Parts: sequence; C-alpha cells; structure tokens
Amino acid sequence: MQCSADQGFPQDNQSYNAHGAFNALEAYSGSLKACSVSPVGLKPGNCNNIELTQPTSTDTGSIVSLHANQRELYRLHKIQKRVTTSASVARCCNHPIPLSKPTIVEHSGGYVGLEGVARCRNQHCVYCQRARAQEAAGRLTKIMRGAEKLSREVLFLTVGLNNRGSGQDIKKYYKDLMRVWARVFDTRACKALGIGAWIRSLDFTVKASFDINLHLHCLLVLDDDRVLSSDDVKALYQRIYARWSEYARRAGHATSYSGNDLQRVNSSGAVGRYLSKAFNVLELVSRNKTSLTSYTIPDLLALIDAEPENGRWLQVYRAVEIGLKGARSLAFSKGAKALEALAEEDVSGDEDNASSDDQVRTSIALPLWYAFSRIKYVLLLAFTLKGRARAYFCELAAMFQELPAEDLEDEDLQEHLDIFLRLYDLDLRLNKII
Ligand SMILES: [Zn+2]
Repeated sequence: MQCSADQGFPQDNQSYNAHGAFNALEAYSGSLKACSVSPVGLKPGNCNNIELTQPTSTDTGSIVSLHANQRELYRLHKIQKRVTTSASVARCCNHPIPLSKPTIVEHSGGYVGLEGVARCRNQHCVYCQRARAQEAAGRLTKIMRGAEKLSREVLFLTVGLNNRGSGQDIKKYYKDLMRVWARVFDTRACKALGIGAWIRSLDFTVKASFDINLHLHCLLVLDDDRVLSSDDVKALYQRIYARWSEYARRAGHATSYSGNDLQRVNSSGAVGRYLSKAFNVLELVSRNKTSLTSYTIPDLLALIDAEPENGRWLQVYRAVEIGLKGARSLAFSKGAKALEALAEEDVSGDEDNASSDDQVRTSIALPLWYAFSRIKYVLLLAFTLKGRARAYFCELAAMFQELPAEDLEDEDLQEHLDIFLRLYDLDLRLNKII
C-alpha cells in the first residue's frame, strides 16, 4: 500500500478546520499506522544511518514544553495567515529571499527560527513579533549597559489614555496618544524633568466591545548621576502625570492617576522581566482564555480558531489590525541611541563571535526547501525536539549541498519527506507528545 505524505496533511494554502493543523498531523500519524511501512531505498547517498535509540537528552521535560510553546506559536501563525487583512502577513515565511538559502537557526535557549525566507515584519504578526522582541531586547540591554556606565538611574513608566469609546476610531485614538506623548516628552520638557533618554513600546489589549486599551511602556534614563529616593520618584511621577493629564485633556481624553505608573528599575534583570511581559508572545498565549475580558492578538487568534461560529472575534481582530496599521511599536530618543552607541564601544568583535557560536545553523538548498516548505512548521518543531527527524534532515541538507539538483527525482524527495515525517512521528511518541 502506497503511503503519501500528503495524506491528511495540511498544505499551507489550504484552510484548516477548527482544530487546526496539528490535529491533522495526528490524523496523518494514524494513517501511517494503517500503511505497511516498508524500508525505503534511499538514493542517492546514505541517509538511513540514524541511530534508533532513546533520546539521550536528560532535559526532556523542557524540550517537551518548548515544543508545546513553539507548536502553539506556529499554530497561531497559521490561523493568522488565514484571517489577516494584510497580504504580506499571509505570505510570511513562505518564500526564500532571492539569492539566499533558507536556514534553520537553533539558538542556545532552545528557540528555533527560520532565516533566509521573506518575513513580513508586520508588528502584529505573531511569528515576526517574536524576532522583533529579541532584537528589541538586545538593544535595550545595550542602552541599560550604557546608562550603567554613566551611573544613570533608569525608571519604568506606563502611560495611557482612558479607553472608553476608543473602539469607535482606533486610528484617531492612536494618533491622540502619540500627540500627547510628543507634547509631554518634548526636548524642553525632558530637560526640565531631568530625563536624558527614553525608549517607548506600544502595547494594547482589546475588549469584545472593540474598546482598545492602548498604552506605552517606557524606560526613562536620568540625565545625570543623581540617586532618587522613593519620595523623589513619587514627586517626579506627579510632575509627569500633571503634564500627561493636561495634554490628554486638551486632546479630549481623560486619564487616571492610578492607572499610570512610574517605578525605579533596580537592575537589568528587572528590565528583562518588564520586557518579557511587554513582548513575550508565548506568555500571553498561556493565559486562561475563558477568564479574560480583554485580549491580545494571540488571544484573539486562539478564539477565532476555538469558536469559529462566533464572528465577533474575527471582527475585533480585523478592527485592531486595520486600526493600528503602520503604528510604531518601538521608538528610541536620540539620547537612547547615544547610550546604545556608548555600550557598543566596549563590545569587541569577540562578543559578536561568541553570540553566533551559540547558534547551530542548517542551511537548506532550494530544491530541498521547495519539497519541505509546505511542512516548514513541522520541520522547525522537529528541530525543537532534537530527535531522529532532525538528524535525518541534517544529513539530507548536507547531502544536498554537494548534489546538483538535477540528480534528484521528485519521487526521491517525496520518499525523503515520507521518512522524515515518520521519524518526526516517532520523535513525538518517544517524547510522549502524542
Ligand atoms: Zn511575519
């Protein structure tokens, strides 16, 4: 009996049912059991010397949870590509960038990413958001290091406008927020407040009523080395809030003293925590959806998938996507860029090399990519599991680097795909994921 990898397996351009791609994968695994699996003669090259032993990793638990997280991320990305109003989000990660090879990059923390494919870089794209957050975290770390070098204290500020009625015109609400920010933190005001640099990141949650709670998470760096007592922080917050509420009022918005906040940041570790809260998609994914009254993009995507009969979620998602199109998610003041440059002065070439040493890269020749691209998420998940499917694919990738593409028949590629999927299925079972 012939066993095809396409059997029950979702294609990128197909629409998925409510349970999504990974249930289809389970169906696929089921159909494998029904076929008589005969050893497939590999040609050319020798790709079947994968050792059939238990995974040696002692850290299986964390691999399993990492796999679950990544699986959720890829699942949401697929849902998003299906429902988005943006053509570039719909195409995200589908095609190689001209003249480059798609490359799977395994980071030391276990996160697996894809390079050399056209990413949409849309701020709402759940896949690209993650890469952006990593870049932002890197820049923020540098700015913190620069501030530390000059012994300058860093404060964490959260500001926003009251959101009742904001859903009626999300674009206008965003513009008003930006205008208030620009007034409150113009150059002269910053000087008067003693603020030498700032970084702000846009964050939001949205309600089923369409009201959107847009707010800004900001780091403020003082312009000299004075040390603030908690009374000083309170006094500074009062001055900032007085300006904030005044300019908000002029723009026709209310604010609340307790709804906004200023805190000291004691160490870069604390910044890391704030950052992960503001940026980490997966932390938001793991929230309990049933108890929520306001939602993030990943929440909305999960709800669109879980309750397809409820059109409200799709409406809210699209309203946000359209309303915040082109919104700036991250901005740095001149002073912040100067601190970043100051931190970079210290960094020798060694450090850059050290960080790239933390990665394992597997580049994929184009014929191989075209055969595997429609299961790219499974490919990435297989790399997360570090099992047999990964080992098999690495051998394939190495073989393809040396092989002229014409030497391979489509049928061979199909067989490789079949074997890869069987090994992945085995990896899932051995890790007790299915
Ligand atoms: Zn994207």
